[in-house]
Amino acid sequence: MKILVINAGSSSLKYQLIDMENESVLAKGGCERIGIPGGKLIHKANGKEFVIEKEMPNHTVAISLVLEELVDETAGVIKSMDEIDAVGHRVVASGEAFKKTTLVDDAVMVTMDEIAELAPLHNPAAILGVNACRAVMPNKKMALVFDTSFHATMPDYAYMYAIDYADYQEYKVRRYGAHGTSHKFVAGEAARFLGKAPEELKIVTCHLGNGSSISAVKGGKCIDTSMGFTPLAGVPMGTRSGDIDVAAINFICNKKGMDLNEGLTYLNKKSGVLGISGVSSDFRDLIAAKEAGNDRARLALDMFGYGCKKYLGAYMAALGGLDAIVFTAGIGENTPSVRAAVVSDMEAFGIKLDAEKNAIKNNGAIRDISAADSKVRILVIPTNEELVIARETAALL
Ligand code: AMP
Repeated sequence: MKILVINAGSSSLKYQLIDMENESVLAKGGCERIGIPGGKLIHKANGKEFVIEKEMPNHTVAISLVLEELVDETAGVIKSMDEIDAVGHRVVASGEAFKKTTLVDDAVMVTMDEIAELAPLHNPAAILGVNACRAVMPNKKMALVFDTSFHATMPDYAYMYAIDYADYQEYKVRRYGAHGTSHKFVAGEAARFLGKAPEELKIVTCHLGNGSSISAVKGGKCIDTSMGFTPLAGVPMGTRSGDIDVAAINFICNKKGMDLNEGLTYLNKKSGVLGISGVSSDFRDLIAAKEAGNDRARLALDMFGYGCKKYLGAYMAALGGLDAIVFTAGIGENTPSVRAAVVSDMEAFGIKLDAEKNAIKNNGAIRDISAADSKVRILVIPTNEELVIARETAALL
């Protein structure tokens, strides 16, 4: 069975064609500048990279171009589109409308339109992607795989905000979380690596990338996660503030003459480690700046490590113990100093890092970086959200 995984953004579209026989990636790539002059498709297959510069006025043109490449004589990996058994679409937010992976039909797409406002930057793009694929491949089965699904198992006392209950009922304002496919994947991989059933394990998964979130996973199910109603909550991020007293943003808006929407843009795009350091949202730049003596870069890195450590401690309490900590995503997989900061001074809780193992460069494999006498295993696990989407789609069929 071959599954085409689509991750559509407002002006971009990433894809992978995965052969489920051995879960290998046959081809992958991305369209850039959809709807903007200067469209480009980068397609990787058969050990080569193909760059196609072509205007893509909309997502339907973009997906048509991708399909042309997939069946192309030199760049292609399949003879015809019939070889694609189904399409799996990444969707950021499901609200309470969808609790699990869902087969696309007209009624489902009406609901998708209704909940689009829950993730105004992301969901409308996913809808464009689905509609484009339905236009080009009308008879193909398609699945919606939601980032939020893995968090649907949170108990009510973990996902509720302490606001007027009627407003929760009316507007469904609550914690939904994000990066669920990644947290699910690495928690499953951790169990497999440790040779245990997921049901036996208490794990804290740290997805640390440009956007970062931390989840508490008990018996294979998410019981709490750091992101909230939107991906603004939780630890400080590249450009997002993470948790903040909401009264502070009202104060800043009044001082700077901003309205609330401008205030939210400030918190989403100009805050986080970028705002603190004034250097960059990229951790490689921050580490270089700190090493060159920049104290605000040092502060940003310290705040990030400390922010993650506080969630780790909170989730150990929520889980009632801990068997493993997993680090994943760009920072989690590649940045030893951040991992060391998150688990520092936690020997009293049975968490002890092996500094040498932690320093080994990421080689794409799962690595145990805990000291031999650490009660809690500390693992680095490369994430693979596309594979989860493909698996979920295949399972639904
Ligand atoms: P992500 O959003 O998962 O792509 O993660 C992006 C973040 O990972 C950026 O802050 C990068 O600085 C950081 N990072 C550190 N080392 C690497 C690396 N070798 N490759 C990619 N991202 C890296």
